[in-house]
Amino acid sequence: MQESKRIQGKQYFDAIVVGAGFAGVYSVHKLRELGLSVRALEAGDGIGGTWYHNRYPGARCDMESLDYSYAFSDELQQEWHWTERYASQPEILEYINHVADRFDLRKDIQLNTRVSGATFSEAEDRWTFTTEAGEVFSAKYAVMAAGVLSVALGCRRGASPVKSKFSLTNSTRTPLQSLLGPLNAGHRGCWRAGPCCGPRQCLSHGRSASVRPAGDGVYDRRPCF
Ligand SMILES: Cc1cc2nc3c(=O)[nH]c(=O)nc-3n(C[C@H](O)[C@H](O)[C@H](O)COP(=O)(O)OP(=O)(O)OC[C@H]3O[C@@H](n4cnc5c(N)ncnc54)[C@H](O)[C@@H]3O)c2cc1C
Repeated sequence: MQESKRIQGKQYFDAIVVGAGFAGVYSVHKLRELGLSVRALEAGDGIGGTWYHNRYPGARCDMESLDYSYAFSDELQQEWHWTERYASQPEILEYINHVADRFDLRKDIQLNTRVSGATFSEAEDRWTFTTEAGEVFSAKYAVMAAGVLSVALGCRRGASPVKSKFSLTNSTRTPLQSLLGPLNAGHRGCWRAGPCCGPRQCLSHGRSASVRPAGDGVYDRRPCF
């Protein structure tokens, strides 16, 4: 593994991952496997992303637990037993915490760290990340695994309808974005929101789902098939 270093308060890594949900946790594992030094920066005080932030009663997967599992390790697949066909939020959160421990990923995940900015320097061929607490990180590769459903974006009752189309993971400028390919079905590409707070929104990556704000910062996602 490459060495990370600190120079004049700036911390240097080969790769910075923003977010420690399913995509971020896998990215840490994969980047490490490639021999790169990596630090994941996660705003929350726990890992799990969507499944950490959304804890309302009844929250669960709307695809089968087995299909929702990571596929990068046969051992992991064999040793983990889902108790329900469509796993509930607590069990999914337990699963991703198990994965983090099983592959010793926590040491490369920094919690309570919200990224406030990222700029790319053509001259240096590197990214600079800044955090709300004022930390500065430099990395050759940036993996934006900040998700789309853990925080309500501009959705408030009574708010004007918003039409937005944005890409999160695709905003990386490096070939590393392809690392997320197999995992990314849940969040890659563009999420089209609109009208905001309407009864149904569409996730362009796959099946339609009803995604409704249920208070500040959580979504109630139910299958509509
Ligand atoms: C109830 C429910 C059911 C779902 N069911 C399914 C399903 O059946 N199948 C499916 O494919 N998907 C499902 N999803 C979608 C789910 O969001 C994705 O499957 C997946 O968990 C997304 O993972 P992620 O790592 O991309 O993003 P997230 O889980 O959203 O994680 C992103 C992380 O980034 C962090 N973050 C954001 N901004 C910053 C920042 N500036 N600085 C630092 N950290 C930041 C957040 O705190 C968060 O922890 C469901 C979602 C919900 C809410």
